Amino acid sequence: MILPAKSISSKSSSLRHTCAVIGGGIAGLSCAHHLSDSFAVTLFDTGRLRPGGRASSRLPGDPAKKDDLGEHHHISKCVVDHAAQVLFVPDHEARFAEFSRQVKDWERIGVVTRFPEGSLYNIYSRSSTKKCIELEPFVGQPAYFGSSTMGIASISNALAETSNFEIQQNVWVSPSNGARYMPKTRQWKVTASGKVLGYFDRLIVAHNGKCADRLMSKTPAKAIHDLLRVNFAPSVPQHGGKRMTLNSIYSLTIALPKNSAIAACLPANFLGGFIQNDKALRFLSCQSRKYESMEKDVEIWTILSSSNFAKSHKAPQEFLPNEVVEEVTLLLIEALESLFGVTVGSIKPIERRLQLWGAGVPLNTWENGKGFLYDAESAVGVCGDWLLDSSIAGAWTSGRLLADHLKTKEAVSAGFDGTFVASQGASNTGIAAINEKFR
Ligand SMILES: Cc1cc2nc3c(=O)[nH]c(=O)nc-3n(C[C@H](O)[C@H](O)[C@H](O)COP(=O)(O)OP(=O)(O)OC[C@H]3O[C@@H](n4cnc5c(N)ncnc54)[C@H](O)[C@@H]3O)c2cc1C
Repeated sequence: MILPAKSISSKSSSLRHTCAVIGGGIAGLSCAHHLSDSFAVTLFDTGRLRPGGRASSRLPGDPAKKDDLGEHHHISKCVVDHAAQVLFVPDHEARFAEFSRQVKDWERIGVVTRFPEGSLYNIYSRSSTKKCIELEPFVGQPAYFGSSTMGIASISNALAETSNFEIQQNVWVSPSNGARYMPKTRQWKVTASGKVLGYFDRLIVAHNGKCADRLMSKTPAKAIHDLLRVNFAPSVPQHGGKRMTLNSIYSLTIALPKNSAIAACLPANFLGGFIQNDKALRFLSCQSRKYESMEKDVEIWTILSSSNFAKSHKAPQEFLPNEVVEEVTLLLIEALESLFGVTVGSIKPIERRLQLWGAGVPLNTWENGKGFLYDAESAVGVCGDWLLDSSIAGAWTSGRLLADHLKTKEAVSAGFDGTFVASQGASNTGIAAINEKFR
């Protein structure tokens, strides 16, 4: 489903300040959603079909990407979560109290589904005495997956559908000069593909990585740019390091016959599991058990790699060379066979699709007691998971906190006093994101 762009009535928008949000992940959508009662908001996102960023899903009927290798008759009949697999609610932490209430609402209206008891596990490779893996039911904070028809993308869909702001999809705001501050009018000029998209009183940067770093590098918002500078590494020092650090993660989705070697080792109610003692693998989930699938005899599985594995098989994310696809796929399947203690060659995918998240998860977060950045001098704010917690919960809350700040009468500069701290969130989720040092 392609989200229709929604327009705000010209009367109300002419009375309000305008705000551009660059990035339609959970943080940008949450910020736009909470801001849209006071500002005329336009959100720009690169997503081809819908927003969601790292919390997005591929849905049956979605057109294939130009660079998709091979046929995906089976995989394309199932809802598949691209990156984020589990929505955690850190309900023991006061700063997530509002998010916790929001998730209860989403659960009530079917946006998210709680993992049934005994469906989410910790997975340990087999001991010398046991044939298969060992499973331990996951206990801890409440955990959810998406809706049966939209997967985890149901969250971004809910934020976009219930809001009064405009979304422009498939727009890549150019990192070189795509956002220019005009000191005379105190507005931001936003451009993409050489076209002016508009002039805005406030600018929100709701993405991270190289793009955001470059986008802010030639603007007067120097303090913001300093914090957006980014490293890519599989781990950070215990003290947190000096710069934002993102890991990389491979995500392999495979179609297997229903009676596969994996299925034989797992209970029928297994939906997902955190792999605890493997060098290459971090998470395994069965998409066709979580979500609607038109397949009866085939199951769709997703495997997430460790940061170290992705680092050792580094490649350009947008154009994975064929030989890398072949090698990485083979190695991940071999690792899975070894984890399950099944014979080499017994996991035979009917179809497969490999994706690299080159800017995966922040391994450290900027702890500033605010959860966002705002530079009042040049009217630019930043929200995202790296400012609070490396998770959907962190991204949603960061966006909301920035919106609340912008709505205060005198929104002053905020969030620059702080320090990078090794991310407990990444450690908690345990999903590939995990900081290797915490293991
Ligand atoms: C493999 C993987 C597994 C994960 N698993 C979990 C999990 O199980 N549970 C969990 O809670 N979290 C998980 N996470 C982390 C979670 O996905 C993120 O913390 C969260 O989604 C971040 O949201 P965000 O809005 O801050 O950033 P993003 O989701 O990255 O959103 C940024 C958006 O901005 C867009 N954008 C970038 N540049 C531009 C530009 N120049 N112009 C326009 N748009 C632009 C991007 O396309 C993207 O849509 C996982 C992440 C990965 C990669």
